[in-house]
Amino acid sequence: MSESAARTIVEQLRSRGFEALYAGGCVRDRILGIVPHDYDIATSARPEQVESLFPRTIPVGAQFGVILVIEQGSEIQVATFRGDGAYRDGRHPESIRFTDAEGDARRRDFTINGLFYDPLKNEILDYVGGREDLRRSLVRAIGDPQERFSEDKLRILRALRFATTLAFQIDGETWSAVCKHTPEIHAVSAERIREELVKILISPARVRGFDLLDESGLLREILPEMEALKGCEQPLEFHPEGDVFVHTRLMLTMLAPNAPLGLILAVLFHDLGKPATRTVDETGRIRFNGHEGVSESISLKILQRLRFPNEVIEAVLPAVRLHMSFKDVPKMRVSTLKRMMARPTFEEELELHRVDCLASHGMLDNHATLVAKRVEFAGAPLIPSPFISGHDLIARGWKPGPRFAETLRAIQTRQLEGTLTSREEALAWLSEHQIIPFDHLNKE
Ligand code: ATP
Ligand code: MG
Repeated sequence: MSESAARTIVEQLRSRGFEALYAGGCVRDRILGIVPHDYDIATSARPEQVESLFPRTIPVGAQFGVILVIEQGSEIQVATFRGDGAYRDGRHPESIRFTDAEGDARRRDFTINGLFYDPLKNEILDYVGGREDLRRSLVRAIGDPQERFSEDKLRILRALRFATTLAFQIDGETWSAVCKHTPEIHAVSAERIREELVKILISPARVRGFDLLDESGLLREILPEMEALKGCEQPLEFHPEGDVFVHTRLMLTMLAPNAPLGLILAVLFHDLGKPATRTVDETGRIRFNGHEGVSESISLKILQRLRFPNEVIEAVLPAVRLHMSFKDVPKMRVSTLKRMMARPTFEEELELHRVDCLASHGMLDNHATLVAKRVEFAGAPLIPSPFISGHDLIARGWKPGPRFAETLRAIQTRQLEGTLTSREEALAWLSEHQIIPFDHLNKE
């Protein structure tokens, strides 16, 4: 979004005698040399004054004094300077009162988020020491950290998020308060927890974010299923790196900076079924038979609990469920390989497999095979249009039923293998090989 819409709004408010400033995240980002993804304006004008001044407005948070102003096609939040009253439910203030710029700075969460910028005078207004903390790369609560995290528990997670995405340290007292208040995070809605967690995980610095979640105790609160991976010992010959938690974290370190969210979540969740399926036989051999299916059910439970959208669920579950199938690659027929490689989640699955190997025994043979096959199969669609369809079977007197799909699949398998190369061959094969069972005949 361009700055010009925000500047226009500030100019108009100022021409009517109101104070108006850029506020919060956009000021922080500009000082850091990051292009702000949106501009927020704080003003001395009351909500009704903002509404009467601009032709297109939406009262998005009228009870908090927030009006959305639509200007040059952009939606810009214009909020009246406010202070928050007592907090109600660990998340929302009971009431607000309108105040001045300094009061408005003090109700914000972290010093780095408490800055204002006057675009007309090109001047930063700093009531909370935010500029110094930006210079020192520090996340520090404004005021008493214990109080600020008690008021609004979302700030616990935001502290870790900003530390991760900006590569900042967390000030000592603020960190102690984060750690103390982690069990209270459940006052925050699942959606808001998910949003912050996603920002941490998609950050190129996600490993540090993961460590901060773990060290603060927040991981145990929001992803308790991962706690069981700690101390879950694995066979040394395949997993010299250590227990399942160590293995999972190591995989996280190996992902590309811009890895997609579905892959990141699949990495975190792919072995969650190991603790519950772990067996040791009389020779001392450790097994996790069927763990991928259990991992899949646990993943679904987590993703639903955190209200992830279906598209994310559909990216994560197949990668988790199918991650063990990669060990069978050397035995796979061409048709099986092609069907595997045609799955919509294949690229993520392949990358999950790569880091799974690298973070354990280190053998990438199957990965190399698949990469070579990808080149070999690149000239034609993996799943070409079928030689014959259900219509052909119906024309031959078949009734739709289970045998129907099996037969079409048998022909497709031969097409993928290259043993049937045309529709004529497929029809001839059907006549030779398919004895049409009596109950499939249309007797009319
Ligand atoms: P980004 O938009 O990059 O995620 P941001 O700092 O702009 O970061 P927003 O959630 O857009 O974050 O909030 C805008 C500003 O509102 C923040 O910079 C901060 O000053 C204030 N703020 C947001 N959430 C809280 C909160 N939970 N408690 C106190 N102040 C908050
Ligand atoms: Mg913002």
